[in-house]
Amino acid sequence: ATPMSVMVGIGKAAESGILIRNGEALQVTSKITTMILDKTGTITQGSPTVTDVITFNNSDENTVMQHVASLESSSEHPLAEAIISYAKALNLTLSKVTDFDALTGKGVIGTLDGQTLLFGNKALMDKYHVAIDDAYEQAQTLASEAKTPMYFAVNQQLQAIIAVADPIKADSAAAIKRLQNKGIHLVMLTGDNQATAQAVAKKVGIKDFIAEVLPDDKVNEVIKRQAKGEIVGMTGDGINDAPALAQADVGFAIGTGTDIAIESGDITLMRGSLHGLADAIAVSSATILNIK
Ligand code: ADP
Ligand code: MG
Repeated sequence: ATPMSVMVGIGKAAESGILIRNGEALQVTSKITTMILDKTGTITQGSPTVTDVITFNNSDENTVMQHVASLESSSEHPLAEAIISYAKALNLTLSKVTDFDALTGKGVIGTLDGQTLLFGNKALMDKYHVAIDDAYEQAQTLASEAKTPMYFAVNQQLQAIIAVADPIKADSAAAIKRLQNKGIHLVMLTGDNQATAQAVAKKVGIKDFIAEVLPDDKVNEVIKRQAKGEIVGMTGDGINDAPALAQADVGFAIGTGTDIAIESGDITLMRGSLHGLADAIAVSSATILNIK
């Protein structure tokens, strides 16, 4: 494309809230064959709220929430925000937790009043040998409703399952359909568990998804598909999406996401809507046609 037609295209895209960093990205966009989409904050709103608190072993909801929220005070994860907001709504006063540690893709651990608190997914409970037993069935039911269930244990004894729900953006399904109509293969990636991922993918009409991925797996997935000759687009909002956004042929950052995701991407979707992807492809196609 001529420098002039690229400039026109970039200007046109900007009018729709699509900020294109470089002319190269604009020209590659219409050639994308596979689009990888992060789940949380990209397909969903990224603002989870607590929906269920199921207690076990004679623990009560207020004590559980006081402990879990105190533990999550040291975390910056969106799940932590959901827990803390819920505890605030219950007027709970939080305590200081020591020995805090966050385990990537698993959850959090800390000490309070000499007791070890654990909060996270099944992989975290398995790592610390917490017996889940019947609670697993209940967690799976919550996951099938597209909620994210987490387990809470004190001194290796299960105290509660807390589920959060992150609403799917109102226009995600429609925007995904537009991409599929253009013949683009869609893949959803998430650190969330298999059953929750499946429920969300089904709701938005995506068949190909990979759950329980660690941050490094995201970039490896991009590399793997590029090696097969795919032109790979990656859309994400989080710190853990940044390497994949940089590696992709075109990285699309959600404008409401983290600064590092925006800096790693080629194109920023200011409106946060996935319609920006099909819109960007349309501008890219028009730009390339103009120069012929
Ligand atoms: P994503 O943000 O893509 O869902 P993460 O790798 O951040 O993926 O998290 C994967 C899973 O690990 C979460 O679904 C949750 O079960 C658990 N987890 C991670 N961080 C926390 C946390 N601060 N509190 C509780 N659970 C967590
Ligand atoms: Mg995300």
